[in-house]
Amino acid sequence: MAAIELKHIEKVYGDGFKAVKDVNLDIADGEFMILVGPSGCGKSTLLRMIVGLEDISDGELLIDGKRVNEKAPRERNLSMVFQNYALYPHLTVFENIAFPLRLARGKHSEEEIRAKVQRAADLLELNEHLDRKPANLSGGQRQRVAMGRAIVRDADAFLFDEPLSNLDAKLRGQMRTEIARMQRRLGTTTVYVTHDQTEAMTLGDRVAVLRAGVLQQVASPRELYEQPVNLFVAGFIGSPPMNFMPGRVEGRTLHLPFVDVELAPDVAERVGGRDLVIVGVRPEHFEDASVLDENKQSRGVVFEADVDVTEWLGDSLYAYLPFEPDPQVQDKLEELDRELDGEGMRTQLVVSLDGMSRVREGERARLWFDARRMHLFDPETGENLTRDEQEAARINEENERARTEALERAREAERRAEEKNGGGERQSA
Ligand code: ATP
Repeated sequence: MAAIELKHIEKVYGDGFKAVKDVNLDIADGEFMILVGPSGCGKSTLLRMIVGLEDISDGELLIDGKRVNEKAPRERNLSMVFQNYALYPHLTVFENIAFPLRLARGKHSEEEIRAKVQRAADLLELNEHLDRKPANLSGGQRQRVAMGRAIVRDADAFLFDEPLSNLDAKLRGQMRTEIARMQRRLGTTTVYVTHDQTEAMTLGDRVAVLRAGVLQQVASPRELYEQPVNLFVAGFIGSPPMNFMPGRVEGRTLHLPFVDVELAPDVAERVGGRDLVIVGVRPEHFEDASVLDENKQSRGVVFEADVDVTEWLGDSLYAYLPFEPDPQVQDKLEELDRELDGEGMRTQLVVSLDGMSRVREGERARLWFDARRMHLFDPETGENLTRDEQEAARINEENERARTEALERAREAERRAEEKNGGGERQSA
Protein backbone atom coordinates (compact mmCIF):
# COMPACT_ATOMS: atom_id res chain seq x y z
CA MET A 1 0.00 0.00 0.00
CA ALA A 2 1.13 3.49 -0.71
CA ALA A 3 0.34 7.16 -0.93
CA ILE A 4 0.21 8.72 -4.40
CA GLU A 5 1.16 12.36 -4.94
CA LEU A 6 0.60 14.37 -8.08
CA LYS A 7 2.62 17.57 -8.24
CA HIS A 8 1.90 20.13 -10.96
CA ILE A 9 1.02 17.35 -13.40
CA GLU A 10 0.47 18.39 -17.02
CA LYS A 11 -0.39 16.47 -20.16
CA VAL A 12 0.15 17.85 -23.63
CA TYR A 13 -0.75 15.36 -26.37
CA GLY A 14 1.28 15.00 -29.57
CA ASP A 15 -1.06 17.33 -31.46
CA GLY A 16 -0.45 20.08 -28.90
CA PHE A 17 -3.73 19.59 -27.03
CA LYS A 18 -3.39 20.26 -23.31
CA ALA A 19 -5.59 17.65 -21.64
CA VAL A 20 -4.40 18.06 -18.01
CA LYS A 21 -3.36 21.39 -16.51
CA ASP A 22 -1.28 21.79 -13.36
CA VAL A 23 -3.02 19.13 -11.28
CA ASN A 24 -1.97 18.81 -7.64
CA LEU A 25 -3.46 15.95 -5.70
CA ASP A 26 -2.37 14.01 -2.61
CA ILE A 27 -3.96 10.59 -2.27
CA ALA A 28 -3.40 9.16 1.19
CA ASP A 29 -2.36 5.59 1.90
CA GLY A 30 -5.53 3.46 1.92
CA GLU A 31 -7.72 6.25 0.58
CA PHE A 32 -10.46 5.76 -2.00
CA MET A 33 -10.13 8.69 -4.41
CA ILE A 34 -12.56 9.33 -7.23
CA LEU A 35 -11.72 11.29 -10.36
CA VAL A 36 -14.93 12.62 -11.83
CA GLY A 37 -16.03 15.09 -14.49
CA PRO A 38 -17.88 15.30 -17.78
CA SER A 39 -16.65 13.58 -20.92
CA GLY A 40 -13.29 14.88 -22.13
CA CYS A 41 -12.29 16.55 -18.84
CA GLY A 42 -9.05 14.53 -18.70
CA LYS A 43 -9.82 11.99 -15.99
CA SER A 44 -8.74 8.92 -17.99
CA THR A 45 -5.60 10.73 -19.11
CA LEU A 46 -4.74 11.42 -15.50
CA LEU A 47 -5.30 7.81 -14.48
CA ARG A 48 -3.25 6.55 -17.40
CA MET A 49 -0.40 8.83 -16.38
CA ILE A 50 -0.50 7.42 -12.85
CA VAL A 51 -0.35 3.84 -14.08
CA GLY A 52 2.33 4.66 -16.66
CA LEU A 53 0.41 4.10 -19.90
CA GLU A 54 0.77 7.75 -20.82
CA ASP A 55 3.87 9.95 -20.48
CA ILE A 56 3.76 12.82 -18.03
CA SER A 57 4.53 16.04 -19.94
CA ASP A 58 5.40 18.06 -16.86
CA GLY A 59 5.27 17.76 -13.08
CA GLU A 60 6.10 14.95 -10.72
CA LEU A 61 4.36 11.74 -9.77
CA LEU A 62 5.39 10.20 -6.45
CA ILE A 63 4.39 6.78 -5.18
CA ASP A 64 5.26 6.19 -1.57
CA GLY A 65 7.41 9.32 -1.69
CA LYS A 66 9.49 8.19 -4.68
CA ARG A 67 9.44 9.78 -8.13
CA VAL A 68 8.12 7.30 -10.70
CA ASN A 69 7.76 9.49 -13.83
CA GLU A 70 10.37 7.47 -15.69
CA LYS A 71 9.29 4.05 -14.47
CA ALA A 72 7.56 1.56 -16.78
CA PRO A 73 4.03 0.49 -15.79
CA ARG A 74 5.15 -2.90 -14.46
CA GLU A 75 7.74 -1.25 -12.21
CA ARG A 76 5.12 0.90 -10.50
CA ASN A 77 3.38 -2.04 -8.81
CA LEU A 78 -0.13 -0.75 -9.46
CA SER A 79 -3.11 -2.87 -10.48
CA MET A 80 -5.50 -1.54 -13.09
CA VAL A 81 -9.06 -2.65 -13.90
CA PHE A 82 -10.25 -1.55 -17.33
CA GLN A 83 -13.71 -0.73 -18.59
CA ASN A 84 -13.70 -3.65 -21.03
CA TYR A 85 -12.25 -6.10 -18.41
CA ALA A 86 -9.54 -7.35 -20.82
CA LEU A 87 -9.95 -11.01 -19.83
CA TYR A 88 -8.26 -13.84 -21.72
CA PRO A 89 -11.06 -15.80 -23.44
CA HIS A 90 -9.11 -19.08 -23.68
CA LEU A 91 -8.20 -19.17 -19.99
CA THR A 92 -10.44 -20.31 -17.14
CA VAL A 93 -11.52 -17.92 -14.43
CA PHE A 94 -8.87 -19.42 -12.17
CA GLU A 95 -6.12 -18.86 -14.72
CA ASN A 96 -7.34 -15.38 -15.56
CA ILE A 97 -7.04 -14.42 -11.92
CA ALA A 98 -3.73 -16.24 -11.54
CA PHE A 99 -2.29 -14.56 -14.64
CA PRO A 100 -0.34 -11.72 -13.00
CA LEU A 101 1.17 -14.18 -10.51
CA ARG A 102 2.33 -16.51 -13.27
CA LEU A 103 3.69 -13.52 -15.16
CA ALA A 104 6.11 -12.89 -12.30
CA ARG A 105 7.91 -16.09 -13.25
CA GLY A 106 9.17 -18.18 -10.38
CA LYS A 107 8.15 -15.64 -7.76
CA HIS A 108 5.23 -17.68 -6.42
CA SER A 109 4.97 -21.40 -5.80
CA GLU A 110 1.98 -23.28 -7.22
CA GLU A 111 0.65 -23.62 -3.70
CA GLU A 112 0.92 -19.90 -3.10
CA ILE A 113 -0.85 -19.15 -6.37
CA ARG A 114 -3.69 -21.49 -5.43
CA ALA A 115 -4.04 -19.86 -2.03
CA LYS A 116 -4.02 -16.32 -3.42
CA VAL A 117 -6.54 -17.06 -6.18
CA GLN A 118 -8.71 -18.86 -3.66
CA ARG A 119 -8.67 -15.89 -1.35
CA ALA A 120 -9.63 -13.49 -4.16
CA ALA A 121 -12.38 -15.89 -5.25
CA ASP A 122 -13.70 -16.04 -1.68
CA LEU A 123 -13.77 -12.29 -1.44
CA LEU A 124 -15.54 -11.88 -4.77
CA GLU A 125 -17.79 -14.94 -4.49
CA LEU A 126 -16.35 -16.57 -7.57
CA ASN A 127 -15.71 -19.99 -6.06
CA GLU A 128 -18.30 -21.79 -8.14
CA HIS A 129 -16.98 -20.36 -11.38
CA LEU A 130 -13.25 -20.99 -11.20
CA ASP A 131 -13.24 -23.64 -13.95
CA ARG A 132 -15.40 -21.69 -16.40
CA LYS A 133 -14.31 -19.54 -19.34
CA PRO A 134 -15.15 -15.81 -19.49
CA ALA A 135 -17.53 -16.25 -22.44
CA ASN A 136 -19.87 -18.27 -20.21
CA LEU A 137 -20.06 -15.65 -17.48
CA SER A 138 -22.50 -12.81 -16.92
CA GLY A 139 -21.29 -9.21 -17.18
CA GLY A 140 -21.13 -8.87 -13.40
CA GLN A 141 -19.13 -12.09 -13.04
CA ARG A 142 -16.66 -10.97 -15.68
CA GLN A 143 -16.28 -7.71 -13.84
CA ARG A 144 -15.50 -9.66 -10.67
CA VAL A 145 -12.88 -11.75 -12.45
CA ALA A 146 -11.22 -8.56 -13.65
CA MET A 147 -11.20 -7.33 -10.07
CA GLY A 148 -9.89 -10.67 -8.85
CA ARG A 149 -6.97 -10.35 -11.22
CA ALA A 150 -6.29 -6.86 -9.89
CA ILE A 151 -6.37 -7.80 -6.20
CA VAL A 152 -4.46 -11.08 -6.39
CA ARG A 153 -1.15 -9.27 -6.59
CA ASP A 154 0.04 -7.34 -3.61
CA ALA A 155 -0.21 -4.11 -5.53
CA ASP A 156 0.41 -0.76 -3.90
CA ALA A 157 -2.79 0.66 -5.33
CA PHE A 158 -5.80 -0.21 -7.47
CA LEU A 159 -6.72 1.93 -10.43
CA PHE A 160 -10.18 1.64 -11.96
CA ASP A 161 -11.21 3.19 -15.28
CA GLU A 162 -15.01 3.34 -15.42
CA PRO A 163 -15.23 -0.34 -14.43
CA LEU A 164 -19.03 -0.46 -14.20
CA SER A 165 -20.06 1.41 -17.31
CA ASN A 166 -20.82 -1.76 -19.29
CA LEU A 167 -23.25 -3.10 -16.71
CA ASP A 168 -26.98 -2.47 -16.39
CA ALA A 169 -28.23 -0.16 -13.66
CA LYS A 170 -29.15 -2.86 -11.14
CA LEU A 171 -25.87 -4.71 -11.45
CA ARG A 172 -23.99 -1.45 -11.32
CA GLY A 173 -25.56 -0.77 -7.94
CA GLN A 174 -24.58 -4.22 -6.66
CA MET A 175 -21.03 -4.04 -7.93
CA ARG A 176 -20.68 -0.58 -6.47
CA THR A 177 -21.32 -1.97 -3.02
CA GLU A 178 -18.95 -4.85 -3.65
CA ILE A 179 -16.13 -2.58 -4.72
CA ALA A 180 -16.67 -0.43 -1.64
CA ARG A 181 -16.65 -3.49 0.63
CA MET A 182 -13.59 -4.97 -1.04
CA GLN A 183 -11.65 -1.73 -0.82
CA ARG A 184 -12.45 -1.35 2.86
CA ARG A 185 -11.50 -4.93 3.63
CA LEU A 186 -8.21 -4.74 1.80
CA GLY A 187 -7.53 -1.13 2.77
CA THR A 188 -5.66 -0.58 -0.49
CA THR A 189 -5.21 2.90 -1.95
CA THR A 190 -7.65 3.21 -4.84
CA VAL A 191 -8.08 5.71 -7.66
CA TYR A 192 -11.34 5.34 -9.51
CA VAL A 193 -12.41 7.18 -12.65
CA THR A 194 -16.06 7.69 -13.42
CA HIS A 195 -18.38 10.21 -15.04
CA ASP A 196 -21.24 8.91 -12.90
CA GLN A 197 -21.78 11.22 -9.98
CA THR A 198 -23.72 8.60 -8.00
CA GLU A 199 -20.66 6.35 -8.08
CA ALA A 200 -18.53 9.31 -7.11
CA MET A 201 -20.74 10.22 -4.16
CA THR A 202 -21.20 6.70 -2.80
CA LEU A 203 -17.73 5.20 -3.28
CA GLY A 204 -15.21 7.89 -2.59
CA ASP A 205 -13.57 8.96 0.62
CA ARG A 206 -12.80 12.04 -1.41
CA VAL A 207 -13.77 13.14 -4.88
CA ALA A 208 -11.64 15.19 -7.28
CA VAL A 209 -13.80 17.13 -9.74
CA LEU A 210 -12.16 17.97 -13.07
CA ARG A 211 -13.25 20.44 -15.71
CA ALA A 212 -11.38 20.76 -19.01
CA GLY A 213 -8.16 19.44 -17.49
CA VAL A 214 -8.30 21.70 -14.43
CA LEU A 215 -8.96 20.41 -10.94
CA GLN A 216 -11.91 22.31 -9.46
CA GLN A 217 -12.30 20.88 -5.97
CA VAL A 218 -11.06 17.87 -4.02
CA ALA A 219 -13.27 17.10 -1.06
CA SER A 220 -15.49 14.56 0.65
CA PRO A 221 -18.81 13.90 -1.11
CA ARG A 222 -20.58 15.81 1.63
CA GLU A 223 -18.41 18.87 1.32
CA LEU A 224 -18.84 18.90 -2.46
CA TYR A 225 -22.58 18.72 -2.01
CA GLU A 226 -22.96 21.24 0.77
CA GLN A 227 -20.04 23.59 0.17
CA PRO A 228 -19.14 23.56 -3.54
CA VAL A 229 -16.46 26.07 -4.50
CA ASN A 230 -18.10 27.16 -7.73
CA LEU A 231 -21.03 26.93 -10.11
CA PHE A 232 -19.50 24.03 -12.02
CA VAL A 233 -19.10 21.74 -8.99
CA ALA A 234 -22.50 22.80 -7.65
CA GLY A 235 -24.14 21.91 -10.95
CA PHE A 236 -22.25 18.67 -11.48
CA ILE A 237 -22.86 17.09 -8.08
CA GLY A 238 -26.46 16.20 -7.22
CA SER A 239 -29.39 14.62 -9.00
CA PRO A 240 -31.71 16.19 -9.97
CA PRO A 241 -29.15 18.98 -10.20
CA MET A 242 -29.08 22.20 -8.23
CA ASN A 243 -31.46 24.85 -9.59
CA PHE A 244 -29.90 28.05 -10.83
CA MET A 245 -31.77 31.30 -11.28
CA PRO A 246 -30.91 34.96 -11.62
CA GLY A 247 -30.92 37.12 -8.49
CA ARG A 248 -31.02 40.92 -8.64
CA VAL A 249 -29.55 42.61 -5.59
CA GLU A 250 -30.86 45.89 -4.22
CA GLY A 251 -29.39 46.82 -0.86
CA ARG A 252 -30.08 43.77 1.27
CA THR A 253 -32.97 42.56 -0.84
CA LEU A 254 -32.48 39.72 -3.32
CA HIS A 255 -35.10 39.65 -6.07
CA LEU A 256 -35.63 36.08 -7.30
CA PRO A 257 -37.98 35.12 -10.15
CA PHE A 258 -40.66 34.03 -7.66
CA VAL A 259 -40.05 35.97 -4.50
CA ASP A 260 -37.91 38.55 -2.71
CA VAL A 261 -35.55 37.42 0.02
CA GLU A 262 -33.88 39.50 2.71
CA LEU A 263 -30.16 38.71 2.84
CA ALA A 264 -28.44 38.15 6.19
CA PRO A 265 -25.82 40.86 6.90
CA ASP A 266 -22.83 38.52 6.38
CA VAL A 267 -24.25 37.26 3.07
CA ALA A 268 -24.94 40.80 1.88
CA GLU A 269 -21.34 41.63 2.70
CA ARG A 270 -20.04 38.75 0.57
CA VAL A 271 -22.20 39.86 -2.34
CA GLY A 272 -20.29 43.14 -2.16
CA GLY A 273 -21.22 45.66 -4.80
CA ARG A 274 -22.69 43.11 -7.25
CA ASP A 275 -26.19 43.91 -8.43
CA LEU A 276 -26.66 40.52 -10.10
CA VAL A 277 -25.82 37.03 -8.83
CA ILE A 278 -26.67 33.47 -9.83
CA VAL A 279 -28.67 31.81 -7.08
CA GLY A 280 -28.47 28.04 -6.54
CA VAL A 281 -31.03 26.06 -4.55
CA ARG A 282 -31.13 22.26 -4.39
CA PRO A 283 -34.46 20.64 -5.32
CA GLU A 284 -34.90 19.12 -1.86
CA HIS A 285 -34.63 22.48 -0.15
CA PHE A 286 -38.10 23.31 -1.43
CA GLU A 287 -41.31 22.03 0.09
CA ASP A 288 -45.05 22.21 -0.37
CA ALA A 289 -45.99 24.94 2.16
CA SER A 290 -49.12 23.02 3.20
CA VAL A 291 -47.20 19.97 4.48
CA LEU A 292 -44.66 21.93 6.52
CA ASP A 293 -44.68 22.33 10.26
CA GLU A 294 -44.79 25.94 11.46
CA ASN A 295 -41.34 25.77 12.92
CA LYS A 296 -39.79 25.01 9.56
CA GLN A 297 -42.01 27.49 7.76
CA SER A 298 -40.74 30.32 9.90
CA ARG A 299 -37.15 29.53 8.91
CA GLY A 300 -37.74 29.80 5.17
CA VAL A 301 -39.61 31.79 2.57
CA VAL A 302 -43.09 31.03 1.22
CA PHE A 303 -43.97 31.91 -2.36
CA GLU A 304 -46.46 31.14 -5.10
CA ALA A 305 -45.60 29.68 -8.48
CA ASP A 306 -47.28 28.13 -11.49
CA VAL A 307 -46.65 24.41 -11.77
CA ASP A 308 -46.03 23.15 -15.29
CA VAL A 309 -45.49 19.41 -14.80
CA THR A 310 -45.43 17.07 -11.79
CA GLU A 311 -43.91 13.61 -11.37
CA TRP A 312 -44.97 11.53 -8.39
CA LEU A 313 -42.29 9.03 -7.32
CA GLY A 314 -43.97 7.61 -4.22
CA ASP A 315 -41.62 9.03 -1.61
CA SER A 316 -41.40 12.41 -3.30
CA LEU A 317 -43.04 14.57 -5.91
CA TYR A 318 -41.09 16.57 -8.45
CA ALA A 319 -42.70 19.77 -9.68
CA TYR A 320 -41.39 21.86 -12.56
CA LEU A 321 -41.77 25.62 -12.29
CA PRO A 322 -40.95 27.71 -15.37
CA PHE A 323 -39.53 31.20 -14.89
CA GLU A 324 -38.50 34.17 -17.03
CA PRO A 325 -34.81 33.91 -17.94
CA ASP A 326 -32.57 36.92 -17.35
CA PRO A 327 -30.56 37.68 -20.51
CA GLN A 328 -27.56 38.78 -18.45
CA VAL A 329 -26.99 35.37 -16.87
CA GLN A 330 -28.70 33.17 -19.43
CA ASP A 331 -25.63 32.74 -21.61
CA LYS A 332 -23.57 31.65 -18.61
CA LEU A 333 -26.19 29.12 -17.53
CA GLU A 334 -26.58 27.72 -21.02
CA GLU A 335 -22.81 27.33 -21.32
CA LEU A 336 -22.76 25.52 -17.98
CA ASP A 337 -25.57 23.29 -19.11
CA ARG A 338 -23.69 22.30 -22.26
CA GLU A 339 -20.54 21.57 -20.28
CA LEU A 340 -22.44 19.40 -17.83
CA ASP A 341 -24.19 17.50 -20.63
CA GLY A 342 -27.39 18.86 -19.09
CA GLU A 343 -30.91 18.66 -20.38
CA GLY A 344 -31.28 22.32 -21.25
CA MET A 345 -33.74 22.98 -18.46
CA ARG A 346 -32.23 26.12 -17.08
CA THR A 347 -35.41 28.18 -17.35
CA GLN A 348 -37.38 26.10 -14.93
CA LEU A 349 -36.92 25.00 -11.36
CA VAL A 350 -37.16 21.36 -10.37
CA VAL A 351 -38.42 21.09 -6.82
CA SER A 352 -38.59 17.87 -4.86
CA LEU A 353 -41.60 17.90 -2.53
CA ASP A 354 -42.88 15.47 0.08
CA GLY A 355 -44.69 12.46 -1.41
CA MET A 356 -47.77 13.58 0.57
CA SER A 357 -47.94 16.81 -1.43
CA ARG A 358 -51.11 17.33 -3.45
CA VAL A 359 -49.61 19.94 -5.79
CA ARG A 360 -51.01 19.37 -9.29
CA GLU A 361 -49.98 20.31 -12.82
CA GLY A 362 -51.37 23.58 -14.12
CA GLU A 363 -52.18 24.98 -10.69
CA ARG A 364 -50.69 27.84 -8.74
CA ALA A 365 -48.96 26.27 -5.77
CA ARG A 366 -47.86 27.65 -2.41
CA LEU A 367 -44.30 26.52 -1.92
CA TRP A 368 -41.54 27.13 0.58
CA PHE A 369 -37.78 27.10 0.35
CA ASP A 370 -34.99 27.12 2.88
CA ALA A 371 -33.32 30.43 2.11
CA ARG A 372 -30.45 29.72 4.49
CA ARG A 373 -29.28 26.91 2.26
CA MET A 374 -29.19 28.80 -1.01
CA HIS A 375 -25.86 29.55 -2.63
CA LEU A 376 -24.98 32.78 -4.38
CA PHE A 377 -22.49 32.65 -7.25
CA ASP A 378 -20.57 35.39 -9.01
CA PRO A 379 -22.14 35.61 -12.49
CA GLU A 380 -18.76 36.15 -14.18
CA THR A 381 -16.34 33.81 -12.43
CA GLY A 382 -18.85 31.29 -11.04
CA GLU A 383 -17.22 31.52 -7.60
CA ASN A 384 -19.47 30.48 -4.72
CA LEU A 385 -19.79 33.63 -2.63
CA THR A 386 -21.61 31.84 0.20
CA ARG A 387 -19.16 28.98 0.75
CA ASP A 388 -18.56 28.60 4.48
CA GLU A 389 -14.88 27.71 4.98
CA GLN A 390 -15.34 26.90 8.65
CA GLU A 391 -18.17 24.50 7.97
CA ALA A 392 -16.17 22.95 5.11
CA ALA A 393 -13.24 22.35 7.46
CA ARG A 394 -15.56 20.75 10.01
CA ILE A 395 -17.05 18.39 7.40
CA ASN A 396 -13.54 17.56 6.26
CA GLU A 397 -12.38 16.67 9.74
CA GLU A 398 -15.43 14.50 10.36
CA ASN A 399 -14.88 12.72 7.06
CA GLU A 400 -11.23 12.04 7.76
CA ARG A 401 -12.07 10.64 11.19
CA ALA A 402 -14.75 8.36 9.72
CA ARG A 403 -12.33 7.19 7.03
CA THR A 404 -9.51 6.26 9.39
CA GLU A 405 -11.93 4.54 11.77
CA ALA A 406 -13.49 2.50 8.95
CA LEU A 407 -10.04 1.53 7.69
CA GLU A 408 -8.94 0.52 11.17
CA ARG A 409 -12.08 -1.59 11.65
CA ALA A 410 -11.51 -3.26 8.27
CA ARG A 411 -7.88 -4.03 9.06
CA GLU A 412 -8.85 -5.42 12.44
CA ALA A 413 -11.47 -7.67 10.80
CA GLU A 414 -8.86 -8.82 8.30
CA ARG A 415 -6.41 -9.61 11.10
CA ARG A 416 -9.05 -11.64 12.91
CA ALA A 417 -9.93 -13.51 9.71
CA GLU A 418 -6.28 -14.36 9.15
CA GLU A 419 -5.87 -15.58 12.73
CA LYS A 420 -8.91 -17.77 12.31
CA ASN A 421 -7.43 -19.21 9.13
CA GLY A 422 -4.28 -20.31 10.91
CA GLY A 423 -2.23 -17.15 10.91
CA GLY A 424 -1.40 -17.03 7.22
CA GLU A 425 -2.66 -17.66 3.74
CA ARG A 426 -5.47 -20.13 3.52
CA GLN A 427 -4.63 -23.53 2.26
CA SER A 428 -6.68 -24.49 -0.74
CA ALA A 429 -8.70 -27.66 -0.87
P1 ATP B 1 -14.35 10.25 -21.23
O1 ATP B 1 -15.21 10.19 -20.02
O2 ATP B 1 -15.11 10.66 -22.46
O3 ATP B 1 -13.47 9.05 -21.41
P2 ATP B 1 -12.12 11.71 -20.08
O4 ATP B 1 -12.43 12.75 -19.09
O5 ATP B 1 -11.62 10.42 -19.59
O6 ATP B 1 -13.37 11.52 -21.03
P3 ATP B 1 -9.70 11.83 -21.63
O7 ATP B 1 -9.89 10.55 -22.35
O8 ATP B 1 -8.71 11.89 -20.54
O9 ATP B 1 -11.10 12.37 -21.10
O10 ATP B 1 -9.37 12.97 -22.69
C1 ATP B 1 -9.15 14.32 -22.30
C2 ATP B 1 -9.00 15.17 -23.55
O11 ATP B 1 -7.81 14.82 -24.24
C3 ATP B 1 -10.14 15.03 -24.53
O12 ATP B 1 -10.46 16.30 -25.04
C4 ATP B 1 -9.55 14.14 -25.61
O13 ATP B 1 -10.12 14.44 -26.86
C5 ATP B 1 -8.10 14.49 -25.57
N1 ATP B 1 -7.23 13.36 -25.98
C6 ATP B 1 -7.25 12.10 -25.48
N2 ATP B 1 -6.32 11.33 -26.08
C7 ATP B 1 -5.70 12.11 -26.98
C8 ATP B 1 -4.63 11.92 -27.92
N3 ATP B 1 -4.01 10.74 -28.04
N4 ATP B 1 -4.26 12.96 -28.68
C9 ATP B 1 -4.86 14.17 -28.57
N5 ATP B 1 -5.87 14.43 -27.70
C10 ATP B 1 -6.28 13.43 -26.93
